[in-house]
Amino acid sequence: MPKISFQHVDKSIEADEGEWMYEVVERAEGGIPFACKAGACGTCATPVVEGIDSLGKVSAREARTLTELGLDLDTYRLPCLKDVGASDVVWGRPHSAADADTELGTHEVVVESYRPLNLTVAELRFFVDKADFHARPGQYMIFHIPDAPRTVRRSYSISTPPSDTRHFEICVRAVAGGYGSNYVHRLRPGERLAVEGPYGDFVLDEASERDIIMIATGTGIAPIKAMLMHLLDKRSKRRVRLFFGLRHETDLFYTDLLRGLAAHYPALEYWITLSQADPARWAGPRGRVTDLIDTHVSAADAATSEVYLCGGRPMIESSTAALRALGFSADTIHYERFF
Ligand SMILES: Cc1cc2nc3c(=O)[nH]c(=O)nc-3n(C[C@H](O)[C@H](O)[C@H](O)COP(=O)(O)OP(=O)(O)OC[C@H]3O[C@@H](n4cnc5c(N)ncnc54)[C@H](O)[C@@H]3O)c2cc1C
Repeated sequence: MPKISFQHVDKSIEADEGEWMYEVVERAEGGIPFACKAGACGTCATPVVEGIDSLGKVSAREARTLTELGLDLDTYRLPCLKDVGASDVVWGRPHSAADADTELGTHEVVVESYRPLNLTVAELRFFVDKADFHARPGQYMIFHIPDAPRTVRRSYSISTPPSDTRHFEICVRAVAGGYGSNYVHRLRPGERLAVEGPYGDFVLDEASERDIIMIATGTGIAPIKAMLMHLLDKRSKRRVRLFFGLRHETDLFYTDLLRGLAAHYPALEYWITLSQADPARWAGPRGRVTDLIDTHVSAADAATSEVYLCGGRPMIESSTAALRALGFSADTIHYERFF
């Protein structure tokens, strides 16, 4: 079994080949901070002291993030994007460790409203006390979670379009035992909190004229909603197909909103599918979003469309595989992975 070591905290752990490095770091308490876990923010950038070759080649996203931070591609890697390889790895001192308390780019926002959308998902609206706030549709904010045992930072996608420069909204699912999501669910109007951002390169390509296929599961609808509202703001004529996956009838949210958006945006078609629907209570599509890809996307779409995927890792992987099998090239598939 490969041994993964964290020199700056003097810890080592054995890991399985193929295991996600983020999980190894957490298990070992390896002292590398994470925020986006998607290769976009660079919080986890760390030099590799030994074993860099076993971490595989540098992806375009990793190279872009490291270069933006001015870090050497021969030495630094983003552990959030890495799987454990065949041999041992020794990580050095994380790039952000020295700056951990300086909180560059941090600013305060005020909770303006809290609205439950179903039993586990809530929508929050924030007032931004900063004149030059501008987010691109699809980006996220990093929230500082003050009441965890150690300072943690969690990412939440902005669900509103950039046209409102003094507010943004998020929608968050309360994860059992999770510090970040439950902290957000306890926030109430008037409270102030520290955030960073906006961050992220999962953004709508506004220069493109291609048709758009959007696929979201759960709160993965948040950045997709921001993109849809932006397309509507811009009176776009681009054809959009949205596949939204949830589990049960009780998980449904944003159904009225989607109906309203479709009424105002004639080029939008959407399908909501429930993977564990009660047939007596749900007449709509049943199954996973990949079933909707099989039914509504064809090989001909690969030449004319681009795709935006947002949700958990299994959905991203299965949807990407289905789209690649239809002939979609990797550069037409954009994704944000929440966990
Ligand atoms: C770029 C980005 C944008 C994000 N945007 C959103 C968003 O708009 N809305 C949103 O609800 N979440 C979003 N997330 C996920 C969010 O950042 C947190 O990971 C999530 O809220 C859980 O944090 P926690 O501190 O509550 O739980 P943790 O204490 O981190 O985790 C508790 C346990 O739950 C598991 N877990 C973590 N997240 C999930 C999940 N979403 N579903 C099921 N199990 C999970 C963990 O593996 C762990 O075992 C985003 C993530 C990223 C990387």
